Amino acid sequence: MGSLQNQKLENGSTGTIKPLDPEEFRRQGHMVIDFLADYYKNVEKYPVRSQVEPGYLAKRMPDSAPYDPEPIEQILSDVQKDIVPGITHWQSPNYYAYFPSSGSIAGFMGEMLSTGFNVVGFNWMSSPAATELESIVMDWLGKMLKLPSEFLFSGGGGGVLQGTTCEAILCTVVAARDQMLKKIGRENINKLVVYGSDQTHSALQKAAQIAGINPSNFRAVATTKADAFGLRAEAFRATVESDLKSGLVPLFLCATIGTTSSTAVDPLGPLCDVAEEYGIWVHVDAAYAGSACICPEYRHFLDGVEKAHSFSFNAHKWFLTTLDCCCLWVKDPGALVKALSTYPEYLRNKASETKQVVDYKDWQITLSRRFRSLKLWMVLRSYGVANLRKFLRSHIKMARNFEGLIGMEKRFEVVVPRNFATVCFRISPAEFAGNHQIVSSEDAANNLNAKLLETINESGKIYMTHAVVGGVYVMRFAVGASLTENRHVILAWKVVQEHANALLTSS
Ligand SMILES: *Cc1c(COP(=O)(O)O)cnc(C)c1O
Repeated sequence: MGSLQNQKLENGSTGTIKPLDPEEFRRQGHMVIDFLADYYKNVEKYPVRSQVEPGYLAKRMPDSAPYDPEPIEQILSDVQKDIVPGITHWQSPNYYAYFPSSGSIAGFMGEMLSTGFNVVGFNWMSSPAATELESIVMDWLGKMLKLPSEFLFSGGGGGVLQGTTCEAILCTVVAARDQMLKKIGRENINKLVVYGSDQTHSALQKAAQIAGINPSNFRAVATTKADAFGLRAEAFRATVESDLKSGLVPLFLCATIGTTSSTAVDPLGPLCDVAEEYGIWVHVDAAYAGSACICPEYRHFLDGVEKAHSFSFNAHKWFLTTLDCCCLWVKDPGALVKALSTYPEYLRNKASETKQVVDYKDWQITLSRRFRSLKLWMVLRSYGVANLRKFLRSHIKMARNFEGLIGMEKRFEVVVPRNFATVCFRISPAEFAGNHQIVSSEDAANNLNAKLLETINESGKIYMTHAVVGGVYVMRFAVGASLTENRHVILAWKVVQEHANALLTSS
């Protein structure tokens, strides 16, 4: 009796649980790695876009957490049975939606190390390596992108790893805001104006909202197809001048290299020239396309960045680094720190007081922060510049092939020029005009293409998402999953054709 009770105590909820027992860690760690290795091996067998209905999971789960512990074997088997069906498989080679979330062995291993150490590196003292490695890696990466030296620590600026672009933009808006308000007085906050184009990511609007910018002072300057949906410097200037006439204060421009809808590129040089005239902070958002700029033949997209104030790109999109990892550089870290620093007694320490160290808590919104640089460092070291370029170029080449396949079929058209590895295309309205009135207008073309995309995605064979640019509904084919090979792209084109055939003959 007594020994049974002891056993219950040992295994049950009241015994010691040894949450970091090294041998048990080893055992379960191997199991999870095996689970994931099998997942990657089989990922093509699953429908790419999850096919579950909203609320599917509650039906499969108990109403409350278990009182008694459950074994890892049982939990992993439930992951397979209940969680995997509700996953949209971003790592599938047949995934072409949104932008990629390109996983890699190096990124994963770095993430494991970081999670394993589980340090909270808010200031230098709390884990010197976390701070110092981040600064080193940001300078490495800045050099890979040929950023002007003013963005690097070695040149008086510096880089920081944020979670996401949304946070990076918010931090820079807040830095610009406080710098300006110091000059013109805090009571004038309602006069500040923030600029982007109608293609700029909603992250800018959210940042402006959170930063207390008057909602009526948010400008999404219109772009046109004639300008390939880039923001014209003259349109920007006209908007700024009209705001000045109304007594407003132009504050911040977010220029985009590779917009989310169609990978359009804003002309940085001319935009920065205008911004400079009016003392406007320029942030360059290259969330997706920044990666490609480590290739010499794509670096020209960043020409003009010399005059910008801040620059960011997401290593967690198309750079083999797991979510989350947004790289942000600023020329004037002081501006960030002034807006974001606090120094409570419980964080006081000698190193911070000497001001010889970076305390990254003052470069971001939150206090606590992950040791993100480990995974980026592992990615840079494991693949090297050479293989990172090779990886990016292989995707660009596959996208070019896909574009070539579209070009061979008169029914389809590429809607905007492809800049990187994302192709925006559709069934052309011209081809079907007058044919059973299937498509008699742009509206009808939009409906038909939306229907086509939905049937394709429902099939689970591939997954793409859409955008509307200049009133035109386009399917976006974003190559970038780490497992994608050219044969997958050829298969994807077949899937598109089959569904287009079925749809066009049935209408
Ligand atoms: C994806 C994307 C963002 C948003 O990135 P998060 O890291 O999710 O905040 C912002 N801008 C552009 C151009 C993007 O493509």
